[in-house]
Amino acid sequence: MQRIVVLAGGIGGARFLRGLMSAVPDADITVIGNTGDDIHLFGLKVCPDLDTVMYTLGGGIHEEQGWGRAGESFAVKEELAAYGVGPEWFGLGDRDFATHIVRTQMLAAGYPLSAVTEALCARWKPGVRLLPMSDDRIETHVLIDDSESGDGARKAVHFQEYWVRMRASVDAHAIIPVGAEQAKPAPGVLEAIAAADVVLFPPSNPVVSVGTILGVPGVREAVADAAAPVIGLSPIVGGAPVRGMADKVLAAVGVESTAAAVARHYGSGLLDGWLVDSVDAAAVAEVEEAGIRCRAVPLMMTDVEATAAMARAALALAEEVRA
Ligand code: GDP
Ligand code: CA
Repeated sequence: MQRIVVLAGGIGGARFLRGLMSAVPDADITVIGNTGDDIHLFGLKVCPDLDTVMYTLGGGIHEEQGWGRAGESFAVKEELAAYGVGPEWFGLGDRDFATHIVRTQMLAAGYPLSAVTEALCARWKPGVRLLPMSDDRIETHVLIDDSESGDGARKAVHFQEYWVRMRASVDAHAIIPVGAEQAKPAPGVLEAIAAADVVLFPPSNPVVSVGTILGVPGVREAVADAAAPVIGLSPIVGGAPVRGMADKVLAAVGVESTAAAVARHYGSGLLDGWLVDSVDAAAVAEVEEAGIRCRAVPLMMTDVEATAAMARAALALAEEVRA
């Protein structure tokens, strides 16, 4: 059985995984999920990217939105607002609240996040092994100008405040994974990478999703040293993110928003192969010059079949690299 490891963020990762599972239903898939987006709200631990993967693969996702539960209601949020208790900018529905209550309760009882995630997945049966990148708390913060204080002062805000409340409307100067230095990979993460037949970077955010996972001490080295081919798919198509504001966080780390620049950012030390969209076929030569095998194929995840074709192209490139 083919062992595939995928380093996944939220929507881009989850949608790709659905196509991958359709392409290779018998594969043994381990997902290493980003937890840098995690946030404490109303006393509850919220893990947006783990939940997006779990709900998407478990059939509970709000399809059009791409995150949160289908058939949501917002009574709890309205009641909190009636008490004047925010934040009001983070959308937590009633069904979703239950997940965060169970998670917080288990964490308070002493279970590590990896065990909690496994327990939540016992209900959702995502069909993959979903591991948080770490059991330790890591929170991505974004350095921005402090408009209140003026005179060039800067401040760090939580990633969700930058992304959801501010819609990345101001420039990011730096991305800071608070807690990463002292963190360890969750149990099973390094083992899964070492035992993989293929490691995939789905079209997830290269900085605040895949980049954050790679920033957990030991993970980047494990991927670089993996015997398996490492193949990525570009989240940047035609010089812009397909969805969201990845260009803002790429700029913060000095990377242009092009498919080739993202490949060079990961580098040939990590990546063996890179898929760009057909519209970026002109970038193939540049990526190959950087020592990364590259192919141009359609990369729009319009439906499961189109996404499965992307997954097959990634696995075919892995075979080519191996040969
Ligand atoms: P998030 O945590 O919910 O932001 O999700 P991810 O980090 O997993 O993925 C976000 C990235 O997915 C964005 O940078 C998008 O450009 C990318 N993305 C979304 N839909 C598509 C698609 O259909 N094709 C490609 N190539 N990228 C996509
Ligand atoms: Ca995310």
